[in-house]
Amino acid sequence: MALIVQKFGGTSVGDLDRIRHVADKIIATRAQGHQVVVVASAMAGETNRLLGLGQALSDNPSPREMDALAATGEQVSNALLAIALNDKGSPALSLQGWQLPVHTDDVFMKARIEHIETDRIRAELAAGKVVLVTGFQGVTPTGDITTLGRGGGDTSAVALAAAINADECQIFTDVDGVYTTDPRMVPEAHRLDSITFKEMLELASQGSKVLQTRSVEFAGKFRVPLRVLSTFKDGPGTLITFEQAAEHTTAAAPGRSAGMEAPLVSGIAFSRQEAQLTITNVPDEPGTAARLFGVLAAAHIESDMITQTPRADRRTDFSFTVARNEAGAARDLLLNRCSFLTGDAITLSSHVAKVSVVGVAMRTHPELATRLFEALAAERINLMAITSSESKVSVLIEERYLELAVRTLHTAFGLDQGAVGA
Ligand code: ADP
Ligand code: ASP
Ligand code: MG
Repeated sequence: MALIVQKFGGTSVGDLDRIRHVADKIIATRAQGHQVVVVASAMAGETNRLLGLGQALSDNPSPREMDALAATGEQVSNALLAIALNDKGSPALSLQGWQLPVHTDDVFMKARIEHIETDRIRAELAAGKVVLVTGFQGVTPTGDITTLGRGGGDTSAVALAAAINADECQIFTDVDGVYTTDPRMVPEAHRLDSITFKEMLELASQGSKVLQTRSVEFAGKFRVPLRVLSTFKDGPGTLITFEQAAEHTTAAAPGRSAGMEAPLVSGIAFSRQEAQLTITNVPDEPGTAARLFGVLAAAHIESDMITQTPRADRRTDFSFTVARNEAGAARDLLLNRCSFLTGDAITLSSHVAKVSVVGVAMRTHPELATRLFEALAAERINLMAITSSESKVSVLIEERYLELAVRTLHTAFGLDQGAVGA
């Protein structure tokens, strides 16, 4: 008997027929003798609908109330799934985040899980029930409801799997695994049988929304066996491993063999959720960057792709990206808090997107970055910023070229289905 956490995304519980189908899948797992804890997302489109209602009433709704609102989506789907399971003769019970509780910090709309109490889950499992836990939500030390950021159901599931020491965490979604890039954008993308935790972390953090980044972080930290599977099509899915998988595409450089040390490219990630802020003509002296980015960090706004370009006369320019939905707030904060900035010192560009080539040892194989630059240059796509890490190279481009860039790179790195090595 294994203990399995199964997470079902919004499309998987999108209507009553799908909820019945998910109930059958859970019952089939139970029939194999396993204990099952389920985390279901809100029904497809429901979180967007709820947040839209709040935004329709106010340009600046309270994050606390937006969380109280958004968390209801998961409450509905989990209760419906429990009703369906009970109706099919499988005893089930739904629990909300605050009922466990799932303790989080108090950063509304992107709260972090601190600790999960598991006594109730264990007791209900021991009583033979399927336990359904609302994903995406938790509770602050003072009892307020929080949510974990968009896509946070994945993180709830993996954190729960870690807390109850589950044998496997299965993320059921509307694709049958992790692909070399989003198969909805590139039909030639192919499914990976396995991917290392490190590469998955890079793909997710660069925008592949198949898993929320923090769910992968949790899996790595607590060594949770994690698998991405389809709700609608049986198959092995993609296993997230902690060792290098042998089956990855070998993207050997021209003139070099695809031997043991050949670089491995696992996929192309992209994000449309980017905006670029440019700050011009600020003092080029110690402390300027600390001030600018300190202000953003204190407001929990992440910045990325930072470049600094010195000008004459000990002045300098900075450019960096932030999440598009935080760009306006970031600009206002900087203007309010940094006295050395004047209104025309900050410009904001929202029509940008980020594309990343992800693979192990990207940095130690400079020919891969060159291949990326040459492929995009051949399509006349201009690069506005470049960053690299051990396992990725990212470029910022105009959003209108995003699809072309992703397809071009997928082909250039030999990832198209049917290509040699794919
Ligand atoms: P869920 O509602 O089940 O959480 P999501 O929409 O959050 O589902 O994530 C699944 C989607 O992720 C897929 O439908 C696909 O469009 C997208 N996606 C992006 N990158 C990838 C990738 N590399 N592999 C698979 N799916 C991807
Ligand atoms: N329902 C939430 C969202 O749409 C969480 C999730 O689905 O993972 O972002
Ligand atoms: Mg998701």
